[in-house]
Amino acid sequence: MSYERLIAHHRELALLSSVAALLEWDERTLMPPAAGPYRAEQLTALAGMIHRRRTDPAIGEWLDAAGDVGGDPASPEATNVRELRRAFDKESRRPAELVERITRATVIGQQRWQAARAANDFASFAPSLETIVALRREESAALGPTEHPYDPLLDDYEPGETAATVGPVLRELRDELVPIVRAIADDGRPPRRDVLERRYAPDAQAAFARDAAAAIGFDFDAGRLDTSAHPFCSGVAPRDCRITTRYLERFFSGAFFGVLHEAGHGIYEQGLDPDAFGLPAGSAVSLGIHESQSRLWENLVGRRRSFWEHFYPTLRAAFPGTLDDVTLDEFHAAINDVRPSLIRVEADELTYNLHILLRFELECALMTGDLSVGDLPGAWNDAMARDLGITPPDDTNGVLQDIHWGAGLVGYFPTYALGNVFASQLFERAAVELGDLDAQFAAGEFTPLRDWLRVHVHRPGQARPARALIEHVTGTPPAPDALLRHVRDVAALHGIESR
Ligand code: ZN
Repeated sequence: MSYERLIAHHRELALLSSVAALLEWDERTLMPPAAGPYRAEQLTALAGMIHRRRTDPAIGEWLDAAGDVGGDPASPEATNVRELRRAFDKESRRPAELVERITRATVIGQQRWQAARAANDFASFAPSLETIVALRREESAALGPTEHPYDPLLDDYEPGETAATVGPVLRELRDELVPIVRAIADDGRPPRRDVLERRYAPDAQAAFARDAAAAIGFDFDAGRLDTSAHPFCSGVAPRDCRITTRYLERFFSGAFFGVLHEAGHGIYEQGLDPDAFGLPAGSAVSLGIHESQSRLWENLVGRRRSFWEHFYPTLRAAFPGTLDDVTLDEFHAAINDVRPSLIRVEADELTYNLHILLRFELECALMTGDLSVGDLPGAWNDAMARDLGITPPDDTNGVLQDIHWGAGLVGYFPTYALGNVFASQLFERAAVELGDLDAQFAAGEFTPLRDWLRVHVHRPGQARPARALIEHVTGTPPAPDALLRHVRDVAALHGIESR
């Protein structure tokens, strides 16, 4: 009986959260600007209702009474009880007054960050960031004790992972990646970059991207593709997943690979059990696993030659005249361009990881106190020079570029690189089980891969945490080897043979 009450309570929570998600989607896509103030009231009212239900003390009583479900620990019932208990226990250790102070500090932090970035004035942001770091350390201590003060914060996004488990994977990735990226920059054959910067009519881009998203398995009967300033994916309700992108007339890759990325997130959402919507058994495992699904379709499938053996003739036809002088191989090299650059969100697939790894290292050092906020810009520039071989001309293009730290998000960055690590491991395993994936892609067949992911990754929900899931599915715990094999394939496209 307690289990049923627990589940009914959380279904109601999921329903309220789903209403909020739909209002948020509307705000970011269709809402007229003047509707903003009342929308804020609507969302605040819902947030209050959601918060009261999420922290209802009855949850603890139901969990206690439900006890140990027994049986298969990966069953939906065991998954729901275990994960709801984990979340409830962690929330009850987070002091309410501290949460309030953090909320206030991060609202101010984002405003200061925005002004500081526009003015290239790190000093005006530093006091705010110092407050945020101090509060996050205080929070970590309240949630601890843990081996590393970073651990409880990372655990919010990547449950179960710690600096000690993730650190070695990410450092090994960096140590191997830095010389390969350097070799491509110094000695690689540069691709014909201009071919992606020709005129691509936005309407034709939208139609082509939509067809590609449908081909890889995003279900448009249970989803939509719209435009927004910042692309996102929202699983607003069972059988209702919304993705967005934005189209630049003179840059093909931005919208197209953005759509594949968001469609990858969407295919994960659509693959979850709709009858367990909002419950752990029907929810994504972690940000890293979510990101593994978007990056698998965007990079491992979408930038692969066999994918374009199928799509290139259609692409040429969609933009008449634009690519007549560009061979498939030239196009393939161009979409796999590797170039060290200053801005994370504009980085290519390979150097992107280096942007993440330096942020991970710096935020760990901020949390231990080994690095002070005042020394952060210098440490940033040193790490950029060491890992990417370039030094930012100013802080706007350096330490001030991301909203994350100003918004209080510490421990979030590594999930992006973990996504790449997980994606490569899953893709290699799928290739072993599904046979010649390249032959399938060249024939426009993506369903076998999507269905394999659905069975092994999507449908189980939170039956296993990320590390156990990867080991269960691939036979190997998280490790950078598969990603590095892929990195060497990309390097070879540019004439760099590493090993
Ligand atoms: Zn993503």
